[in-house]
Amino acid sequence: MTDAAGQKPFRSINRTLFHQVIVTAVIAVIVVSLLQAYGVYRAEADQSRNLRDTLSRSYIPSLGLALKKSDIDDIRQQLSNIVAYPDIAGVVLTGAPGTVLRAGLPGDAVDVSLPVIAPSDAGETIGDLSVYFDWGVIRHRIISRALQDVLIFSVFALLFCVVIYRSLQRRLRRPLQQIVRYSQQLSPRQYVEPLVISRPERAGNDEIDLVLQGFSKLGDGINHYVRERDLAMEALARERDQLDARVRERTEEIRRINNYLEMLSRLSMSMVDLEPSRQHIAMHEALEELATKVDARGCGIAAFTEEGGWRWRFVWRAPGVDSVFSDDSQLAGLNRQRGWSVDENKTLPDTILCAHQSDHHGYVLAFFDASRKLNAAVERRLLQMTSEVFFKLIERWRNQRELENSRRELFHLSRTDHLTGLANRRYFDEAKLIEGRRAQRSGGPVSVLMIDVDFFKAYNDLYGHGRGDDCLVQLAAILGHYCRRAGELPARLGGEEFAILLPEHDIESARDVAERVRCAVADLGITHEGSPLNYVTVSIGCATWSGDQRAIPVHVIFETLMTDADRRLYEAKNAGRNCVVAQVARTSEQTPSG
Ligand code: GH3
Ligand code: MG
Ligand code: MG
Repeated sequence: MTDAAGQKPFRSINRTLFHQVIVTAVIAVIVVSLLQAYGVYRAEADQSRNLRDTLSRSYIPSLGLALKKSDIDDIRQQLSNIVAYPDIAGVVLTGAPGTVLRAGLPGDAVDVSLPVIAPSDAGETIGDLSVYFDWGVIRHRIISRALQDVLIFSVFALLFCVVIYRSLQRRLRRPLQQIVRYSQQLSPRQYVEPLVISRPERAGNDEIDLVLQGFSKLGDGINHYVRERDLAMEALARERDQLDARVRERTEEIRRINNYLEMLSRLSMSMVDLEPSRQHIAMHEALEELATKVDARGCGIAAFTEEGGWRWRFVWRAPGVDSVFSDDSQLAGLNRQRGWSVDENKTLPDTILCAHQSDHHGYVLAFFDASRKLNAAVERRLLQMTSEVFFKLIERWRNQRELENSRRELFHLSRTDHLTGLANRRYFDEAKLIEGRRAQRSGGPVSVLMIDVDFFKAYNDLYGHGRGDDCLVQLAAILGHYCRRAGELPARLGGEEFAILLPEHDIESARDVAERVRCAVADLGITHEGSPLNYVTVSIGCATWSGDQRAIPVHVIFETLMTDADRRLYEAKNAGRNCVVAQVARTSEQTPSG
């Protein structure tokens, strides 16, 4: 049987046991009563047998005698005596001659029939005595005796039950109830009091004592657990307080490191693409800021030079410590070893040196009087990070300088003729446009000389290509010599053809320059047996743009100018070579010389 929650209803073990005792007692009373009734019945049966025997022994012979004598009074007297027995309700004596005598109140059914025998004649039956028991008396007695027994036994049974009940109450129910109440207030979250139960004195321990011992152990276990838990909670609380302090400490440290890293990042960002002219000052300011940040009184960067020694490259010193990082020899004791190294107070007193060296370079970042702050491991890592940033910055500056030099060299090469060192055609084309625009703005003239070496194929054939090249170099030097003013540009256009750009030169001035060049070449007197003149000469075509056609694009003007100069050169060749032919804006003018 279970309730709605699926749990069996509570039934006290005491009650259950008591019920069983009562049922057992009732059954015992019933059984005992039945046995008792059976015993009473047996006793009554014995008693009626005894009564019969008594009648047979005491009354039958005298009745036989009285009947023989026909002594009616005696018979009546004896019958009255018989009826006096409490169990006998009545008797009927039937004699031979038909005598019937009655006494008491005979019933309907004869209970005992006794033959009356004459005393002298052996075995002669002279009458019959019918006995009628008083069943009401007998029943009453049986019931009374049975009831009396049942009553006594029931009283005993009742007493037994009361004793059992009291015993169960004291020895079982109360202790169990206390145990139940105790177990209900047990909780793993709080301390428990020891379980104490008042019980009657006993010779030994019973099951309840064992249960008490079990609960005592359980209580100790719970108390131990609660105590451990309380200790753990206290430790946790202490830990939490310490944790708060540590978190505050770490937060402050992280904030400081962040500030530092921000400074580092800001410095590197501001210096990374700095112009070379500002680099030294910027680095000086950065070292000052860095030193202030770590409470150092001096900060410097040294590099290992190609000559094989250390040199201070950038240094900042606080006022009053002028000797710090002032002498390269201070670094002489620094070991040359690959990778990162931190040297504290060994090479230099009161100084931390953070170095990074490889096969190609070596750098040192030095802090004077900063050990107080830079002792912690995290500060060492920051120190290395700082060194890395600054070393890379210096490397980058160096690479940028080299790159710039290479770029310049490349730029120069791209505009220079490699044999003569004069401007090449590309540079000449750029320059002529620039000067053309300037001429357009200012309205001044621009002239171009086209110069070609005479019979140069023959020269090569006669003296070889190498000598031909040497000759070209000498001619180039003469061209350079006569171009001294700003904007004047001699160029080798290709092969043995040269040109000179002459800004601010009108046709007269240009022809004058051309003449001087021609003469200077001739005056060199370079032997040329393949020429009719026996020495190397040049022919020059000269054209001038007066600067008045401002609407026309510069490249168009120069196309015309170059074409005209070329044509004049052709004319000079046709005129016998070693001469200058000049013209202003397509107006033909020829000046042979010789
Ligand atoms: P001219 O100009 O007087 O009419 O006769 P030329 O013999 O000079 O005729 P041309 O201009 O046709 O010949 C040019 C020669 O210049 C051909 C070639 O051998 C020579 N030449 C061209 N470039 C170079 C060079 O870089 N070095 C040397 N040595 N010779 C060159
Ligand atoms: Mg030529
Ligand atoms: Mg030529």
